[in-house]
Amino acid sequence: AENWDKVPLAPPDSIFQLTAAYKADTFPQKINLGVGAYRDDDGKPWVLPVVKKATDRLFSDPNLDHEYLPITGLPEFVSAAAKLILGADAPAIREGRVVSVQTISGTGANHLGALFLSRYYQFNGERQVFLSDPTWVNHFAIFRNVGIEPRTYAYYDPQTIGLDFAGFVRALERAPSRSVFLLHACAHNPTGVDPTEEQWAQLAEVVQRKGHYAFFDSAYQGFGSGDLERDARAVRYFAGRGVPMVVCQSFAKNAGLYGERVGALHLISATREKAERVRSQMSVLQRSEISNPPGYGARVMALIMNDAGLFGEWKRDIETMAGRIIEMRKELYRLLTEELKTPGDWQHIVQQIGMFSFTGLNTEQSKALVEKAHVYMTSNGRISMAGLNSKNIKYFAASLDAAVR
Ligand code: PMP
Repeated sequence: AENWDKVPLAPPDSIFQLTAAYKADTFPQKINLGVGAYRDDDGKPWVLPVVKKATDRLFSDPNLDHEYLPITGLPEFVSAAAKLILGADAPAIREGRVVSVQTISGTGANHLGALFLSRYYQFNGERQVFLSDPTWVNHFAIFRNVGIEPRTYAYYDPQTIGLDFAGFVRALERAPSRSVFLLHACAHNPTGVDPTEEQWAQLAEVVQRKGHYAFFDSAYQGFGSGDLERDARAVRYFAGRGVPMVVCQSFAKNAGLYGERVGALHLISATREKAERVRSQMSVLQRSEISNPPGYGARVMALIMNDAGLFGEWKRDIETMAGRIIEMRKELYRLLTEELKTPGDWQHIVQQIGMFSFTGLNTEQSKALVEKAHVYMTSNGRISMAGLNSKNIKYFAASLDAAVR
């Protein structure tokens, strides 16, 4: 017998379960603030105009074929992707020290990065990775899958609904030297709380002094500030100081290419010679995992990133998305503090950045919003700001007000 009766039934993924419950709900004013996907002011998925244009260009090319891409990906995509996150004039790129591999979006980049570390990183003692508390829940499974035990470091302070900077620094100081720390490059998921520039500089100092390894996850470049360059600052600062690092990059959110699975992994080595060895082993790993990455999304992004006109249009589309989210933050803050006089301090709504906001609501209040108000959100109090729009924000603010009174 195959013994599948010993397979325990796993709980469904909470975010996707939330979406299913939302879809089944017939209440007219229902709102989905669960999943982190951008919606326009009509609550609809948004195909970026630049993506539409690039797609049309791609499919009108009579030479387009469906051959395999190279194992490490479409060269003109991965090189442009590296410049996007590390900077067009990054010394590490110029010196041939960056190994860039096309991946199955950000999840695949995290996986390949974790797999590479599990094979080749010389752990100082335990095979462990330090994750922010809280973090994107998938980080735990991704590292466990490759035999690296996740630990957490202090990050979010529920008292201030902000960063526990002292706790973060303490965790870096106390961890064994040469530990691996996963850092969210910008627009932290799920809290929306990022270190300031000065705090990043102090964190980098400790990371470097302790010889830690920085595992950057960049899933929201552009979504934080609306500016691709600005949102890459932390990564570039660490790279500039020579901190050993890898960067996981996703184009799901900033190009709205969620289902096309466009991403890359960039590993910076100390020398070109080391990078060549890393590249050879990355190819071996990639071959056994997916053989060749998918073509479509990478071709679209290669067109956009390598054409000055399209690149400019992309930046404007990103500003449109980030700008609308920032507007929603301001409007929610205004409704709560001025119109409804909701008890509590709601500063964090406008201070947090990116797709998500940690409202500070507890489990009970979050559940009440789902059950009583048909506002679908995770029980940790996180809301996707992108799910709010000019038509539903008043209803949401009133429901939030009712839940905390
Ligand atoms: N990292 C973080 C922090 C995320 O929030 C996400 C998306 N939810 C990802 C990685 C990966 O997303 P994807 O695989 O769709 O690029």
